[in-house]
Parts: sequence; C-alpha cells; structure tokens
Amino acid sequence: MPKQPPIDNATDERYMRMALDEAHRALERDEVPIGAVIVCKGHVIGRGHNLTEALTDVTAHAEMQAITAAAATLGGKYLVDCTLYVTVEPCLMCAGALAWSQISRIVYGADDPKRGYHTQCDAPFHPKTQVTGGVLADECAQLMTSFFKRKRPARAPKQQQQPS
Ligand code: ZN
Repeated sequence: MPKQPPIDNATDERYMRMALDEAHRALERDEVPIGAVIVCKGHVIGRGHNLTEALTDVTAHAEMQAITAAAATLGGKYLVDCTLYVTVEPCLMCAGALAWSQISRIVYGADDPKRGYHTQCDAPFHPKTQVTGGVLADECAQLMTSFFKRKRPARAPKQQQQPS
C-alpha cells in the first residue's frame, strides 16, 4: 500500500534487489526470508537478514540487524539522510526502532497483512519519515509464500502426474 509514489523507481528497485539478496541468505539458513539494506547518499551502510532462529532472539529481525550495522558504520545512532529497504512491511517493533533512528525514508516490498505495522498503527514512524510500499512486491511476497508452503506439512495426497 504505497503512501506516495516512489522517488526514483530504478534506484528503489536496485536497492530492493540487494534486500532480496539478503532475504535469500535468510532462506539459506532456513530463516523466514526477509532482508534489509540501509543506504546513505548512494552507499550501502548496513545490511541484514532475519536471524531469529540462529540467534534464538525474537528481536533479530532484518531491519534491527540493518539498523545496528548502519549506526556502527556511521558512528552515530541517528539515521537521518538514510533510506531503509526491506522486503516485507516492517512489524510494529521494527517500526518503533526505525522511529527512534529518525530514518528519512522507508521503502518496503510486500505488505504483511498479519504482522505489518499497518495492522496496529498507521503512522508509527518519525513525523519526517517518508514511506513507500510495494517495490518489487510480487518477488518479495513470492519468497515468503514459498517458504511457508515448504514449512507446512503436506496434508492432501500428492496429485497424480499426468502421463506424458
Ligand atoms: Zn520486525
């Protein structure tokens, strides 16, 4: 659900592909495939993917990893003039952390109708933060759908293959 048109489609898609690369890293570790990168003035200053299983930590979301990495790179806790790219709409916890960071812009891919911040709050971010949703949404959503499909035990018997 985009709140405003993307500032630059090609740039947004380029960085979202990097976030998708991070999501694939999570997938390789059998983690829920969500990835994030933080960009400041054309430089990637932080990246991360979901690590909640590896770290046995419910707060180890992709955005939290990226925020920590970006602040370490900058040597400061505020992410003014930075943009976060994340493959799935942030949850309320990450939205809160992003609000604390005062990040300038948030770009996300797929909506999360179950756990996205929209389900609980319309504007949890810093008042100056711009939000763009729906960038490469299908690819981002597809990764999640296939992950959860694989996780779910097959209930129905497999369909018989058509003779060729
Ligand atoms: Zn989160």
